[in-house]
Amino acid sequence: MQPIHVIGGGLAGSEAAWQISRAGVPVVLHEMRPKRGTEAHRTSVLAELVCSNSFRSDDADNNAVGVIHREMRVMQSLIMRCADGHQVPAGGALAVDRDGFSAAVEAAILAEPLITLEREEVAGLPPRDWDSVVIATGPLTSPALARGVGELTGETALAFFDAIAPIVHFDSIDFDVAWRQSRYDKAGPGGTGADYVNCPMNKQQYETFIDALLAAEKTEFREFEGTPYFDGCLPIEVMAERGRETLRHGPMKPVGLTNAHNPGVKPWAVAQLRQDNALGTLFNMVGFQTKLKYGEQARVLRLIPGLERAEFARLGGLHRNTFLNSPRLLDGRLRLKADPRLRFAGQITGCEGYVESAAVGLIAGRLAAAERLARALEPPPATTAIGALINHITGGHLEAIDAGPRSFQPMNVNFGLFPPIEEPRFDEGGKKLRGPDRGFARKRLLSARAARDLAAWIEQQN
Ligand SMILES: Cc1cc2nc3c(=O)[nH]c(=O)nc-3n(C[C@H](O)[C@H](O)[C@H](O)COP(=O)(O)OP(=O)(O)OC[C@H]3O[C@@H](n4cnc5c(N)ncnc54)[C@H](O)[C@@H]3O)c2cc1C
Repeated sequence: MQPIHVIGGGLAGSEAAWQISRAGVPVVLHEMRPKRGTEAHRTSVLAELVCSNSFRSDDADNNAVGVIHREMRVMQSLIMRCADGHQVPAGGALAVDRDGFSAAVEAAILAEPLITLEREEVAGLPPRDWDSVVIATGPLTSPALARGVGELTGETALAFFDAIAPIVHFDSIDFDVAWRQSRYDKAGPGGTGADYVNCPMNKQQYETFIDALLAAEKTEFREFEGTPYFDGCLPIEVMAERGRETLRHGPMKPVGLTNAHNPGVKPWAVAQLRQDNALGTLFNMVGFQTKLKYGEQARVLRLIPGLERAEFARLGGLHRNTFLNSPRLLDGRLRLKADPRLRFAGQITGCEGYVESAAVGLIAGRLAAAERLARALEPPPATTAIGALINHITGGHLEAIDAGPRSFQPMNVNFGLFPPIEEPRFDEGGKKLRGPDRGFARKRLLSARAARDLAAWIEQQN
């Protein structure tokens, strides 16, 4: 049997290759590192996590990311298996020891006889005799391949900058000031209720910090002009520019936390850090993506009480992201309309995040394998988390009615992508639901519907 070629051994490509091999189809996985690097990857290992070590919420009842975790586990995802095997405590989130996680993915791929790993760049459009290809080259697709895809599609790939948060050495944090506590003491899977390090600020300290942030020197990029930031990932200085209170209502919100050193006084703002490696020696600053110059970052961040002597293992930065105008270019099975032997997966399709990229890789792999085996397969229904995401990418997103710049932007999975469900008015016991409880009940219903519909979709294939 002719192999399927997967280009890119990141989150999506590794998962796609794994799923193809599980279906009994041979696959060649092409990864350019270490021969050629990217601006963000630091190692040659497959499925490297370039920034945070978090796979986000693992709560399948109340969070769409938790639902997609659950669906991937049901579908024997390699990425989820390795994440579960290398979990570190992080409250209600699923965070991993980054080195252990990536090493486990690579070991599984290398041990799979149906997968051949080729360490080489595919420097342009794949050769014509590769009749089935999954392109999973991510936000930092090599320029030669990006050019090839751009020429084929006639669309210019949109570049913008993502933001990474600084990482601090744990033993440089001052615990006479900081304390450990998860918001609302939430333990979550693998957590203790005290997984985060919290650094409190009073009003004056907060105002001084905001002044310093606003005055600090930023990295200037010409390309930065018109950068379409999306609100979940704004650099802290951009948030501060939007309003002096914005950070206090965002990543620095003081809710659900009690200062262990001064329980009677509510902090005005709190900076949180989360464990970044299995050893517990490194902590990353949650939500502190920044484009401040490196020297400025260290100076400004050391104004945070508890971090006066912080040593940074890594400072924040900004990176390019390449992604297709997928709603126009891809069909419902993630194939390029202009050349259907090419299928896309991962962040290059316009999904956003490790989990979403791997999930799209999972489905792309299954679809490619089914096609090779001449079996009928549709993506999961849009009522599932994965189906909702793929539906959004391949057509769920509405283009702006007016001609102008393309409006399709990277998307995280969220309940807003799911087909609506009638908001419940009563709980299971017949009690009238009020306020936020109705929203929670709605999420639980969406989650239950997703579980049912995924099970039915899997059943259909048997
Ligand atoms: C700076 C930065 C920070 C980020 N932070 C986060 C975060 O905190 N949380 C989060 O969930 N997501 C984050 N993301 C997004 C994250 O990178 C992606 O969601 C995820 O890694 C995408 O998975 P992927 O498999 O599509 O791409 P990648 O994981 O990037 O994998 C693509 C692979 O393709 C290889 N490749 C590229 N071109 C070629 C070629 N021509 N031939 C062969 N191989 C090639 C690359 O070397 C790479 O290994 C960040 C992205 C960037 C750039």
